[in-house]
Amino acid sequence: MIPELTTWRNQSPGNLDLRLDEVHRTPIPPLVDAATKAAPGWARVPLSERIERLRSARSKLEIVQEDLALQIAIETGKPLAEARGELGAVLGKFELSFADASRHLADERVTDGPHPARVRRRARGVAAVIAPFNFPIHLGHGASLPHLLAGNPVVFKPSPSAAGVAGRYARIMAESLPPGVFALAQGGADCGIELCTHPSVRSICFTGSATAGRHLAQLVADDFSKDLALELGGKNAAIVWSDADLPSAAQAVADGMCLTAGQRCNATSRVILHREIAPAFLELLIESLRRYTPADPTEPEARLGPLIDRRAWEQYRLALDQSEGGDWILHGEALRAVDGLRGFYVQPAVFAVGGKSADPRPPLLTKELFAPLLAAQTASDIDQALAEANRSVYGLSCSVFTKSEATFWRFADELQAGNVYANLPTTFSPSTLPFGGWGESGNGKPGGRGFIRFVTAEQAIQIRTDSLA
Ligand code: NAD
Repeated sequence: MIPELTTWRNQSPGNLDLRLDEVHRTPIPPLVDAATKAAPGWARVPLSERIERLRSARSKLEIVQEDLALQIAIETGKPLAEARGELGAVLGKFELSFADASRHLADERVTDGPHPARVRRRARGVAAVIAPFNFPIHLGHGASLPHLLAGNPVVFKPSPSAAGVAGRYARIMAESLPPGVFALAQGGADCGIELCTHPSVRSICFTGSATAGRHLAQLVADDFSKDLALELGGKNAAIVWSDADLPSAAQAVADGMCLTAGQRCNATSRVILHREIAPAFLELLIESLRRYTPADPTEPEARLGPLIDRRAWEQYRLALDQSEGGDWILHGEALRAVDGLRGFYVQPAVFAVGGKSADPRPPLLTKELFAPLLAAQTASDIDQALAEANRSVYGLSCSVFTKSEATFWRFADELQAGNVYANLPTTFSPSTLPFGGWGESGNGKPGGRGFIRFVTAEQAIQIRTDSLA
């Protein structure tokens, strides 16, 4: 049973003594009714005019980008430098999405059939966009733009943990578009469910945990008129091979572990090391992790902020108590305060899998923890490393560290993951590429670049030769 979230007040995870505004759940039916009413008109608006409207939203967001970045740092604990990066991605996404729309929405003429024909991409109708807390604007925004450009009104439900900053973004978007075309639904899981199961909603883009994604997929399974795109979790591996540039690999793994305090779907949470270089790599990694000391996320130099809330912090504390299936190389800590600020601060941790264990695949190796915790394994050859990398229910992101092109492609050809990188952190996912995972990480509709391919309804038109004047 999902509890109803009606009124709530978030805590600032980096400063529990700050008082944030109270938030109220939005009633869903009036929003969806207004969006449904707006849908036919918005679908008829030419693409050039939709683009103009969205350019005006971009200009307004650009003016307040620094305020929004600071609000992200306060509300979610994401370090300010990263929050500024998120706003940069939000602004950059506009032109990339316009280019995608011009490319993918155009009619396709078909001349090799019995009669002149074309394939059109029609607007589908109201879209529900459900977003997680870790990129409180960027992810919902990245899913909303393609829908809006394709002519689908959007009801955006952000994470309740980022209600303030997401609400501010949504109001700017809404005021740049005709009434009903962009709406904000504040609430928790119950609100997301009510929105997605509303009979007038035609498309859902859900970004969040695999557990919630599966639940949602089951709830809408009977309604074939709904299209569902799922962007879910990960347990992403970095493979460091015997010929790798070890200092640079160690830095990339430390970054992949600690950005957003490990609260990224593509965070590095596993490392598979060639047996020969494992001790040297781990020493360098511990050295690199020294740069990630917990700090007030609103400080421009902060690199490691707190976890999102008490539940996440407690879960990390309990994870650090586990030792089944291996040994701690670096025992992290869940701290109650940093520099006099009470918050959900943590220190990174590295766990070496193997040794005395009865359980060869302990939860620290298999479960997404969403914290700066890395499970380290060793492998003697490429087949063993591949088998380990692919022995996960998730398949989002994987990085291979090697100087050999042949070795990289040998891995890339067999890795079961939607994003595979050579000598880059698993978190290095620019908006210029599609982004989606396999297995429990998604359902084959990658977001990011080209997501617009999945937001329209295809219609095949055929006109009997010479039958129309
Ligand atoms: P979450 O699943 O708890 O919540 C995500 C959003 O879904 C929130 O807005 C929440 O209110 C809503 N929600 C929860 N249950 C729902 C349900 N049954 N039906 C409809 N809506 C529901 O996730 P979170 O803690 O906010 O974010 C962390 C998770 O998101 C991690 O698992 C992470 O890997 C994943 N994530 C994935 C991607 C990706 O692109 N693949 C990106 C970022 C985060």
